[in-house]
Amino acid sequence: MRVAAVILGFVALASLARGASELAPGVDLIPGTFVAGTQPDGNTVVFAAPDGLVVFDTGRYPTHAQQIVDLANAAKKPVAAIVNSHWHLDHVGGNLLLREKYPGVRVYASGAIEDAMHGFLANYRAQLEDAIAKAGDDTAKQAPRRAELALIDAGPKLFPDQRIGETSTRTIAGQAFRVGFEGHAVTAGDVWIIDPASRVLASGDLVTLPAPLFDTACAEHWKDALGRLGDVDFKLLVPGHGAPMGRADLATYRRAFDRLLECAAGKSPKQACIDGWMHDAEALIPASDEKLARSLLDYYVDGNLRGDPAGRRKLCET
Ligand SMILES: [Zn+2]
Repeated sequence: MRVAAVILGFVALASLARGASELAPGVDLIPGTFVAGTQPDGNTVVFAAPDGLVVFDTGRYPTHAQQIVDLANAAKKPVAAIVNSHWHLDHVGGNLLLREKYPGVRVYASGAIEDAMHGFLANYRAQLEDAIAKAGDDTAKQAPRRAELALIDAGPKLFPDQRIGETSTRTIAGQAFRVGFEGHAVTAGDVWIIDPASRVLASGDLVTLPAPLFDTACAEHWKDALGRLGDVDFKLLVPGHGAPMGRADLATYRRAFDRLLECAAGKSPKQACIDGWMHDAEALIPASDEKLARSLLDYYVDGNLRGDPAGRRKLCET
């Protein structure tokens, strides 16, 4: 299963831990963390709204979700709403803890997770069970896999209360946000959000560093979605993974993304496509993440961009 394979790649190469920081008045970032031996959390952006906090993505681990709770305690506000960018476990896992702590919380997301439970996540679950059976009594190896199983088995507790299937202005927790929807880009349903006051845009994995993650993606639609993100009037963009960026940085990302797709569609050797991305996106990739970026693309160019055409078409079907 590709998610598992790629995530194990993350495990070997990255070990970063950062703290929460204020992006603008009333807007905080809890950065996703990659810790050696474990799987990643996505970035979380927290907006302080009149009726409570609006949390965009909740990470994978209780340790990440606990940072959201700590922020809420410090702000003396409850978590009123969660908006999930997409169903990957590093973005929805914290829904469990937050639902437990804040029973009134309302979850907004696309409905794609419900299909994924019967497809991609069901396959991943089977792969985890297989790995657990093979690992025998090694409890250190078993624990993270069992935690993944428990997350998948939580099923409906990860699901939205309110499905998002179109781009519109929505009042969430007493504040107006522009909430965007993209079908069949990173996943079958991707959501972004912008706070018109601060102009902080949280993109989810539509923008992901140090490289785009193509496991469940329709690359062509994703490219179009990036074009629409470029039309959003933002000042600061928080990607699904990686550091916040400005407008010029998104332009750099888009150019690098387009050229990566062109390269992969042509006859150049894979290494030329990887080198091209590293060159085009150089300004966005910290030196400490270069090895990770190369290993991700080494996997995705063959496994996805040049992978089975029928499989790729299926990910693009609406
Ligand atoms: Zn992610």
